[in-house]
Amino acid sequence: GLPTCECNTCYSGANCSQLLPDCSADGDSGDPLFLEPYWQQHAASSAVVFSGWHRMSYRTTGDNFISLELERHIRLLHEAVGNAVTDGRLIIFGSGSTQLLNALVYALSPENASTPASVVATAPYYALYKMQTEVFDSREYEWKGITSKWLNTSVSSMQNFIEFVTSPNNPDGFLLQSVLGGPNIIYDHAYYWPHYTAIPAPADEDVMIFTDSKLSGHASSRFGWAVIKDEKVYRKAINYMQVNTMGVSRDTQLRVLKLIKMMLAEMRGEGGIFEFGYKTIAERWSKLSKVISSSNRFSLQQLSPQYCTYFKRIRNPSPAYAWFKCEMEQDVDCSAVLSEARIISRPGTVFEASSRYARLSLIKTRDDFDLLLRRMEALVSKEDVAS
Ligand code: PMP
Repeated sequence: GLPTCECNTCYSGANCSQLLPDCSADGDSGDPLFLEPYWQQHAASSAVVFSGWHRMSYRTTGDNFISLELERHIRLLHEAVGNAVTDGRLIIFGSGSTQLLNALVYALSPENASTPASVVATAPYYALYKMQTEVFDSREYEWKGITSKWLNTSVSSMQNFIEFVTSPNNPDGFLLQSVLGGPNIIYDHAYYWPHYTAIPAPADEDVMIFTDSKLSGHASSRFGWAVIKDEKVYRKAINYMQVNTMGVSRDTQLRVLKLIKMMLAEMRGEGGIFEFGYKTIAERWSKLSKVISSSNRFSLQQLSPQYCTYFKRIRNPSPAYAWFKCEMEQDVDCSAVLSEARIISRPGTVFEASSRYARLSLIKTRDDFDLLLRRMEALVSKEDVAS
């Protein structure tokens, strides 16, 4: 007989089409499973098989634990997408971009300074920057909160600051620039791909971080990379990798090479991953926006269509997350309002924003999104009855 499949959490029945009535729509987490159908369509051409004797050594083709062939393909990919300048830059790999965040905080911290470096970000910001900096808190650096507190810092003291800039931003999807304008900035470009944003120009900052998690959707492979201008910063980041994990899993590097080769080969054709990604999220955003537009109680961040150098046309917004706001005075805890309507969100306070905000993921599975939309329609239509 046919193998029986497991139904998604909220569904049951022979063909998983029965929605369990009390089940909550899960809009939490940035698990990029919206790309799963893309890879199902390219199942054979994206498969990697290797024998037991293959890649057993600590050593790799490149110095510092990286596969040169993978590095070359990452440069080709940036060039083909036009989202980052890599000429004359150095590249290091990390176990997810998560590992690189701290490697670069370490690498940018001044040596032998009398006070630890101050690590900051602009709210709303991705919570991991703070969590990680606090866990690894050391003589070299410490978390100092949001950038707006430090706007009057003198130019000389700015040497001692490390600013995270997330562009497009998690949670709200805006393209951001540095607020403090100091010399040590880590640009987190996790979402700077045509799935999620227009690409106005190639990013050209001194320290840039990217991740395969949000590019191909393989969060499980734990693969990220940093593009670094300054050799000294690069050496320190390499040193961190050396004493930490001795580089990224060689198995992962092999898998990611295959995925990037395939994305490059298919890029401008019918099987282009960015067309697929953009279409999927733009459609979800448009559906959700439409529902929210008939509400007086809720709103979403205002994103506009923008010219994209990759698609060579003006494109609609397709953010990874909806940054959802409760407008009514009594709805102080927006995440609780959603939770009552059986929608799981990430509270605004996690991003050091007001509890009137909540983040909803648009990049999970189709089932997750469809249920989210359904629950949202029900919530908004209740408003009509009440008013
Ligand atoms: N930076 C940002 C802005 C993110 O949203 C995420 C994942 N949600 C990461 C970094 C970390 O991703 P990973 O470790 O999977 O590369």
